[in-house]
Amino acid sequence: MPSAVWLRSREALIKRIGKNNYASWIEPLVMRGLLDGVATFVVPTSFFGDWVKRNFGDQILALLQAEGLSVARLDFVLGQDASADVAAPARAPRVAAKRDLRAESPLPGATLDARFTFDSFVVGKPNELAHAAARRVAEGGPVSFNPLFLYGGVGLGKTHLMHAIAHELQARQPELRVLYLSAEQFMYRFVQALREKQIMDFKSIFRSVDVLMVDDVQFIAGKDSTQEEFFHTFNALVDQNKQIIISADRAPGEIKDLEDRIKSRMQCGLVVDLHPTDYELRLGILQTKADYYAAQYKGLVINPGVLEFLAHRITSNVRVLEGALTRLFAFASLVGREINLELVQDCLSDILRASDRKLTIEEIQRKVAEHYNIRLSDMIGPKRLRAIARPRQVAMYLAKQLTPRSLPEIGRRFGGRDHTTIMHGVRKIEDLMSTDSQLSDDLLRLRRALQG
Ligand code: ADP
Ligand code: MG
Repeated sequence: MPSAVWLRSREALIKRIGKNNYASWIEPLVMRGLLDGVATFVVPTSFFGDWVKRNFGDQILALLQAEGLSVARLDFVLGQDASADVAAPARAPRVAAKRDLRAESPLPGATLDARFTFDSFVVGKPNELAHAAARRVAEGGPVSFNPLFLYGGVGLGKTHLMHAIAHELQARQPELRVLYLSAEQFMYRFVQALREKQIMDFKSIFRSVDVLMVDDVQFIAGKDSTQEEFFHTFNALVDQNKQIIISADRAPGEIKDLEDRIKSRMQCGLVVDLHPTDYELRLGILQTKADYYAAQYKGLVINPGVLEFLAHRITSNVRVLEGALTRLFAFASLVGREINLELVQDCLSDILRASDRKLTIEEIQRKVAEHYNIRLSDMIGPKRLRAIARPRQVAMYLAKQLTPRSLPEIGRRFGGRDHTTIMHGVRKIEDLMSTDSQLSDDLLRLRRALQG
């Protein structure tokens, strides 16, 4: 009987998602049945179902599978109040849909990843400032900078640091109401509240927290009413001297379509960036993770030089680095081999290929300028002389061919030229290539020089 399995096993979720989340989102779920690999749950509102699916779907699925049910997908259907006592008369769905958000979900944030703690965060030059700021906020003393704004490229540890702050605050002051969610979830909740006419509840939930953390705030850029609401929430909390922590993939001033008043609000606090990792940091992270894995996969040996090789070759982001190590250990334990450079080549060839050094437009411009013996500044400057315009077009052509940049992006790097100018340059070279053997020879050499 699947639903009995569900009732028996769902408690396992408490540990992972916390009591609050469990009481708000899991307890009310009623499993209706299992058919053709689809487990169906009854939920009181579609929002409820969407929320559970997005935030806990994977964990529920894994749990049911671990219990031996052959289930591949979860389905949520609207029905009578899912949490109603069996003995109680069935209530109509419409009544169930008008639930009080405050009562049902005291602080419905996203779940925190238990692994993202300060202990597991490796500190190096590129992230030491961000780490120090996060530590300070996590001490939970008087609010010294508001907001703390963390920014940096993908996979550099923004989310990890935010979760670490939340864990730490919660451990030091369990009564503190800490709400962590992504900007996308903020918008989702806001739109839902509008639709269900519960905007007052929405406002009061967000204004009653002690610490608000919004991840990937660049997401709300250009979403006008969400920005507006975010701005008011933000101000209300700052006025109450409540700590706000924000992350984004770039600096506040550089987020396109973000309202100016929000940008300037963001800049009022402390803005710190996570720099791209350097070799030492990558090696440090790898060593930490390797120690962890070595303890898990007993008997697996990792040869000297392997971690150094990975730290040297995989420079894109920490997530890729971690993925590589995970795969390496899993593979080695499967085939019973030691982890050496040969195994690395065998099982990570795709990752290594993908992280081959990326060419930049600037490098292309420099090489082409060198080749034709013109000044680099003339590449982006306005001169129309053939002796300069032609090499410039060659550089445009190569930029289009050898980088993933769009025509407008290339235009910007050629002194703010229009994308039609770039297109014209690219076509010109394509036309000439077949008849002008000197040109095609130049292109061949340049390509070789650039691609190594
Ligand atoms: P972001 O939010 O900046 O895109 P994440 O915080 O999700 O990046 O980090 C991606 C992965 O890399 C996570 O698994 C995280 O634990 C790990 N990671 C990033 N930086 C570090 C670090 N300094 N030490 C340990 N793990 C890190
Ligand atoms: Mg993130």
